[in-house]
Amino acid sequence: MGVVSRIRRLEIDRIAEEVVADVAALPIEPRSIATERQITIQTWEPKVQGISGFLMKQGDSFGIGYSAKIKNPGFVNFTLGHELGHYHLPGHIEKLFASGSGIHSSRSGFVSGDECEREADLFAATLLMPERLFRAALRTAGQGFPAIEALSARCVTSITATAIRFAAFVEDPVAVIVSSNGNVEYCCLSPAIREIGGITNLRRGDSLPTTSTTARFQEEPDNIINGCRAEGCSILDEWLEGAPPVEMKEDVVGLGHYGKSLTVLFSGEPVEADDPDEDEDSYEHSQQWERQG
Ligand SMILES: [Zn+2]
Repeated sequence: MGVVSRIRRLEIDRIAEEVVADVAALPIEPRSIATERQITIQTWEPKVQGISGFLMKQGDSFGIGYSAKIKNPGFVNFTLGHELGHYHLPGHIEKLFASGSGIHSSRSGFVSGDECEREADLFAATLLMPERLFRAALRTAGQGFPAIEALSARCVTSITATAIRFAAFVEDPVAVIVSSNGNVEYCCLSPAIREIGGITNLRRGDSLPTTSTTARFQEEPDNIINGCRAEGCSILDEWLEGAPPVEMKEDVVGLGHYGKSLTVLFSGEPVEADDPDEDEDSYEHSQQWERQG
């Protein structure tokens, strides 16, 4: 699976932030960004499953398509943001149109391991949730899953993309975990948790703590299909090895498809490290997106 280097990731963030530098308020409208660049947008019925959109090049003209099957406005925006990523990121146009076919089909939403696809996904997330505007919105968004839901509505972005961005910037101790069938798919920790020394982040395939609200929630498939919610409490070290045994609130919501659920562990109180001298470099913020897909 292609891993995007930290330097490249910073470059992607910088380019995406530059594109929306003059935008004064959320939501970002990728449709307008495309129009400003004379890029036409159309919907189409993909014949291959999993294709979310495409970028087309004819001479110096570009067009973007997105699947008519996508009904969620947040995922439409993400797909448009992904294609704009191919348009803006250095090297993409040369690489994607090297064969001369004039069309690149995309699998956006962190499901593809292809390097260009992952880069375009990273671009889309930053484009739709630029740091300055997102941080400002975050300050009044509240806590836990309701905060993520409010930000998702404000940014017109998917719940999972918003949750990951939320974990990256929130000041409180927060862990966002996407899981399915009792196993972790990926986990993003907020800086307040990452900075605790000596903890080990969850990895793909790790088992959920058996006592957690999330584990019990997942035992009932209808919870996930119907987008149900549950609330409970967890002790942080049940989730993260080496973390202090502090109580965290635990919000869980079913994501409705592929058997996935989203868990938000959070606390309004600072989490104190057991041993501040321990190594802090054992896990990497920069790799958080790589745990997806
Ligand atoms: Zn693509």
